[in-house]
Amino acid sequence: DPAATWDAVDAYFGPLVGEDDVLAAASERARAAGLPEIQVSAAQGRLLQLLALATGARRVLEVGTLGGYSTIWLARALPPDGGTLVTCEIDPAHAAVARESLAAAGLSAVVDVVVGPAADTLRRLVDEGTEPFDLVFVDADKPSNPVYLDLAVRLSRPGTLVVVDNTVRGGAVADPRSTDPNVLGVREMVARIVDHPRLDATAVQTVGSKGYDGFVLARVRG
Ligand code: SAM
Repeated sequence: DPAATWDAVDAYFGPLVGEDDVLAAASERARAAGLPEIQVSAAQGRLLQLLALATGARRVLEVGTLGGYSTIWLARALPPDGGTLVTCEIDPAHAAVARESLAAAGLSAVVDVVVGPAADTLRRLVDEGTEPFDLVFVDADKPSNPVYLDLAVRLSRPGTLVVVDNTVRGGAVADPRSTDPNVLGVREMVARIVDHPRLDATAVQTVGSKGYDGFVLARVRG
């Protein structure tokens, strides 16, 4: 059973990844509140954190908060002398759980959980002329991925990283006849990246405790 092996390997690398009690409690709080268990794995959360650290990110934007699990990984990468994370969530119940876990993690002061449709929030940030973000993590409703990509670029500076989760979907992304709106959202986004004059990108397939999926990583050029 390959999935059992993927689970075992994620467990083996647990000490390397180093999910602590605060993160484990955030997962547990989300589960107890009945939230869907669709957060990133610990290994993926750690990857996001390392990308934020590697780019020296001071301003992080997240689209899709759920219970704040990935938010905690990312917010912990912010520099101690400042930095901020804006995370967008449409479901007030999810946002409430996230706020509790962020408070327990001591991160309430650096994280702004914005409740509402993420596209509206991002458009408002564009209109306000907000400072550009250094890292954007897109992990919400997949049919909106093309919209989120466009808005993420508008909220970026040269060098900004954009990470989009769940872009392989068990391999379904490669099926040109798929009518799944999630697949179509990923494919349209990928088409836009291919044609984009300011994005260098790759896609990485992943297996693990979350099954077979993957992410797109893009960097905004000058
Ligand atoms: N990033 C989270 C993590 O790894 O811990 C998981 C996010 S979960 C996959 C997707 C979240 O996006 C859900 O909480 C869902 O309610 C939210 N969502 C769905 N549509 C949305 C929208 N239009 N605007 C903002 N959030 C949305």
